[in-house]
Amino acid sequence: MTMNVLGQNKAMDEQVGETATSGRSSGQWGAPNSAGVSIASSISFQNVCYAYHKTLVLNGVTLEAAPGEILCLLGPSGSGKTTLLRIAAGLEVPNTGTVKIDNQLVDGEGVHVETEQRGIGLVFQDFALFPHLTILDNVKFGLAQLSRKDATTQANRMLERVGMLQYADVYPDQISGGEQQRVALARALAPRPQIVLMDEPFSGLDARLRDTIRAETVELLRDTRSTAIIVTHDPEEALRVADHIALMKDGNLVQFGPCEELYHRPNSLFSAQFFSEVNIFQHTVKAGMVDTPLGELKAKGFSDGDLVNICVRLSDLNLEVAKAEGDGIAQIRSRRFMGIVELIELGIDGRLEPVRVRIRADGLDKDARYVRVTADKQKIMMFSA
Ligand code: ADP
Repeated sequence: MTMNVLGQNKAMDEQVGETATSGRSSGQWGAPNSAGVSIASSISFQNVCYAYHKTLVLNGVTLEAAPGEILCLLGPSGSGKTTLLRIAAGLEVPNTGTVKIDNQLVDGEGVHVETEQRGIGLVFQDFALFPHLTILDNVKFGLAQLSRKDATTQANRMLERVGMLQYADVYPDQISGGEQQRVALARALAPRPQIVLMDEPFSGLDARLRDTIRAETVELLRDTRSTAIIVTHDPEEALRVADHIALMKDGNLVQFGPCEELYHRPNSLFSAQFFSEVNIFQHTVKAGMVDTPLGELKAKGFSDGDLVNICVRLSDLNLEVAKAEGDGIAQIRSRRFMGIVELIELGIDGRLEPVRVRIRADGLDKDARYVRVTADKQKIMMFSA
């Protein structure tokens, strides 16, 4: 579920506002017309547990975002992403475990640092702009501790940076959703927070706008050298924006690492399936080997009698036209043209479920009825069933 921000917008904005100048003077800010650069911080969670009433929703989560990096909390709905983000914001207090910002304890061991002292900026799915304030005043809201002149200068600078300066004097309902999200981003970053926390910030935008705003957001986070934690349920989005991904399931951290590692070396069937559609073949290890429709494979790290899931992405299977039915030959059951690619369903002897393959649209003869299916050994994944 996503954070219920409706009742909290004001409180959060005040909190963000109060961070506006914490520890910094306006003189430290960048030159006019630059976005200004944040002093990026690290944030780390050590063995964080959290329960709503008696239901454990975070079960010993340990991970860290380094200064200036973008960390995505990724996982299905209900996996605990928003709760972890709220803990980072200081809006929830973990039952056990610690949270540190720049190695300073902000939660745990009897410490709880309030949101307003954490130097964070918050951005939400529903943009959460104040309808009765102009765009400029929305951005200035977080700069209450600056002089009026400095706050206006900084707010204008941020609006210019997100391409919204010409809308400074209009109200939120006069601009589009994408423009509102740009303003929300400008408001969160104007006080130059050490860490920006974003809860599904792009999911309220239509698909066409989402790509643009997402790319602009990443560019702005990089330009301002902000550390960011972004919650998303969309694996493609995480791959597009993150330096590191924390994949969560049922309150547990399933895998944490750079994007390539999660994609290419998933540590579980869940990780593999979360990033792409896969075929799964379940087999028992015999004499250190498993006999699969893709040939005999070494079952490294498994013992005889172990049940394993052999897992291969739809796009990692190769097809070669075969003349007729036979050993290791599959029958084409259906083909679906999808533009750039074609989705093919194959029948394999001894298997009810079709094997699904995604190939380049012109990659297989139109009249083909039988195919030999192969895969590069290093693209075949094997997990304990
Ligand atoms: P996600 O952001 O991954 O969708 P959440 O952190 O919102 O997950 O929720 C994790 C679990 O905590 C879910 O099972 C959800 O039902 C539960 N939960 C979230 N907020 C509350 C609440 N205020 N009271 C009780 N349970 C909650």
